[in-house]
Amino acid sequence: MMQFGIGTLVMLVLLLLVCVPFILLVVQLRQRRQLRIWLNQPEVRNSPDGIGAWRDIFTRLQRLRKEDHIERIALASSRDRFRLMVQTLPDGIILLDGNDHIEWLNATACRQFGLDAQRDAGTLIEQLIRHSQFIEYLTDFRAGRQSAPLVLALNGEQPRCVLSISLLSFGDAGGLLLARDITEIARAETIRRDFIANVSHELRTPLTVISGFLEQITSDHAPPAEATRGFLVLMNEQAQRMNRLVEDLLTLSRLENAATPPREERVNVPALMQSLLIESLALSSGRHAIELGEIAPFWVQGSPDELRSAFGNLVSNAVRYTPAGGSITLSWSDADGSPTFAVTDTGIGIPPEHVPRLSERFYRVDKGRSAASGGTGLGLAIVKHVLARHQGTLLIRSEVGRGSTFSASLPAARLIRV
Ligand code: ADP
Repeated sequence: MMQFGIGTLVMLVLLLLVCVPFILLVVQLRQRRQLRIWLNQPEVRNSPDGIGAWRDIFTRLQRLRKEDHIERIALASSRDRFRLMVQTLPDGIILLDGNDHIEWLNATACRQFGLDAQRDAGTLIEQLIRHSQFIEYLTDFRAGRQSAPLVLALNGEQPRCVLSISLLSFGDAGGLLLARDITEIARAETIRRDFIANVSHELRTPLTVISGFLEQITSDHAPPAEATRGFLVLMNEQAQRMNRLVEDLLTLSRLENAATPPREERVNVPALMQSLLIESLALSSGRHAIELGEIAPFWVQGSPDELRSAFGNLVSNAVRYTPAGGSITLSWSDADGSPTFAVTDTGIGIPPEHVPRLSERFYRVDKGRSAASGGTGLGLAIVKHVLARHQGTLLIRSEVGRGSTFSASLPAARLIRV
């Protein structure tokens, strides 16, 4: 009995030693399988219960999953709102990859360029926007050359549409194209320009007639009575001033309306400097010491008329704003490779706060002095336009009471060595 009892006990213990690990293993495997199934489809609803330590693991995983689920919903909602916002924007947006293929575009860009978001994604943008100006702008952007926004008139559109296009670097090598519809602004600008051009043109003929007669009367052999003569001289001066104003307005209109780039010719600047010297001596009538400084022997590529007008305005300003006895130097050099025309005077100078605004139309530091010296208030505006059309810049250095230097620089690419 005793022997049977011990034998059975041993058997039972052995059975237990074999079965318990086996049961535990089966439980572990089952839990792992449940975990695997759940991980394949981790729905919060059908998460497993778990036994022992597994319960804790499942509970934590469920909590993480729930938090993740909430975050995903919030993220998706803000992404949808962002997309809606970008779609609703009045500006066109096109996202480009590093090779200029369209990655994404909004509804406005589709409308502006006649594109289709589904069909055209992945296509090279140059194949869809085939304007030569745009392709040039894109090439400049890729070459790292910064330029002002491109104004592009899409003539195929009905009605005609004018866009202001900017390209910005985006991400690693991508690009972001922004297109703003400026049709109305461009139309208003054209009306303004046409109006100024027409008014100036219309004023020119009657003014020429009046000036002609006035000149004749004041220089007549039988002069009018002394009192009337004074009035006539004044009228003559004012008529001449109006003539200059009209001529400057017409020059500005021509510059604004002319096609870019300006007429490209070889301009003999050293010869131009000689003729500017003669003109300035005539204008000064011996009141100033005017001389040529460094005159480098090179020419430039550009419009001879426009450059003459710009440089002439700078020289005329130096004469008009330098009191008698002062000196003026004209020079032509290649500062840092850029051909530069400079006029230095020992004149009245300009307070620094006025310098940034000098090239605005009709902006004068001293209105009375400008009018008395025969200024129209448009000289530096003309200079600025001419230089912009030649990709040049104007640098002004000035000190009140000591004088000024106006330097007009053109890009090195325009320089011609002769
Ligand atoms: P304006 O016909 O009045 O001379 P500009 O556009 O040529 O018009 O010049 C704008 C203003 O800049 C002038 O009214 C004057 O106050 C100032 N200015 C231009 N050049 C000079 C200079 N060399 N010295 C001092 N002031 C100058």
